[in-house]
Amino acid sequence: MILFVHDRHYFIWRPFLIQYGRQSLNRSDYRAIRKVLKSNWLTIGPKVEELELEISKVCGSENFVVSSGTAALHCAYAAIGLAPGDEIITSPMTFIATQSTALHFGATIRFGDIDSRTGNLNPALVEELINQNTKAITAVDYAGHPADMDSLRKICNKYKLFLIEDAAHSIGSTYKNRPVGTLADLTTFSFFPTKNFTTGEGGAVASKDKVLLDAAKKFGRQGLVRDPKYFLYEPDGRWHQEVHKIGLNYRLPDILCALGVSQIKRIQKFKDIRRNIFDYYNLNLTGIDDLQLPSKEDFVDPMWHLYPIRIKNGRRNEFFEYLWNLNIFVQVNYVPAYFHPIFLENGYQKGLCPEAEKFYSEVISFPIHPKITKKDLRKIVSATKSFFR
Ligand SMILES: *Cc1c(COP(=O)(O)O)cnc(C)c1O
Repeated sequence: MILFVHDRHYFIWRPFLIQYGRQSLNRSDYRAIRKVLKSNWLTIGPKVEELELEISKVCGSENFVVSSGTAALHCAYAAIGLAPGDEIITSPMTFIATQSTALHFGATIRFGDIDSRTGNLNPALVEELINQNTKAITAVDYAGHPADMDSLRKICNKYKLFLIEDAAHSIGSTYKNRPVGTLADLTTFSFFPTKNFTTGEGGAVASKDKVLLDAAKKFGRQGLVRDPKYFLYEPDGRWHQEVHKIGLNYRLPDILCALGVSQIKRIQKFKDIRRNIFDYYNLNLTGIDDLQLPSKEDFVDPMWHLYPIRIKNGRRNEFFEYLWNLNIFVQVNYVPAYFHPIFLENGYQKGLCPEAEKFYSEVISFPIHPKITKKDLRKIVSATKSFFR
């Protein structure tokens, strides 16, 4: 009867509060978790592979699950052998995990400016950042819109760099009819509650390259080698296992994998709902001079994770406060990564990526997730219209 209490609780606060993102759980999700709790395996059980199989159907690649999107990035950087002195080129229009996980390996971050139409790394500005220490380009699929992966791939081929895709926003998106998960050397996903589907906390690493995927996975599984084929020493017995390179425990437990299996079955439905909300805003907010609505390249089919709307009259902060006072809890994604003291106190300066900074100063993420009602949408649109009247 926990279900009932939960649902009722939901109804009590629901009408007063609209979030920019949130999970959408149903009875099958609750049932799936309950079933695992009564089973033999709370972790390292059959639900892990089951979720990986479901993810591969969506992203088109072999993958393994981890405990967060941050863990996924950490594993990806481990797989390419990132080391002190190496450099990564990436976008500042992202969550800090894209960079922090590379910094853990002693790498240096070079920020490339964005294409202001999509919020994604601008390939035309990447080449000038490459030098002999550059190891990889990490693209971020801002708002669910895939980055310009073919252009980035060309650059990576030319300079022999790895291409990593932080696809925390974009599981379920396609680029030139190819699913996100098949485009980069390593793709990372997040299943945080605001993302496209959830396991509470969780993530995955996907790759077509078996060697890279194995290296990433080993890092996320304590570096343990269990296959006798690869043993360096004679085993004392069948308990023998070896660590050749250190790793971490980034496992995702069966309890959460079961939630993921149940959730990912609705991913197409989630995508349709997100697209409908996107279209609703586009339809109802066109013609307001001070607003710039998000745009889309013709060759992508995004799973819209965010609805980034830009306020062109300098009143972004005021509009943000206005919406919060109406219990419309919008968000700003993102403060450019190098605005964090960790960068500013280490030689990075404001002004580095002018397009990203302008984007940041104007953008608001409007609510977009499966639990939003028609009534919510009408409220958001009419509040917006009265503000800009
Ligand atoms: C959410 C997110 C992450 C980190 O994922 P967690 O699951 O929260 O660790 C990384 N990059 C981007 C762009 C994200 O949005």
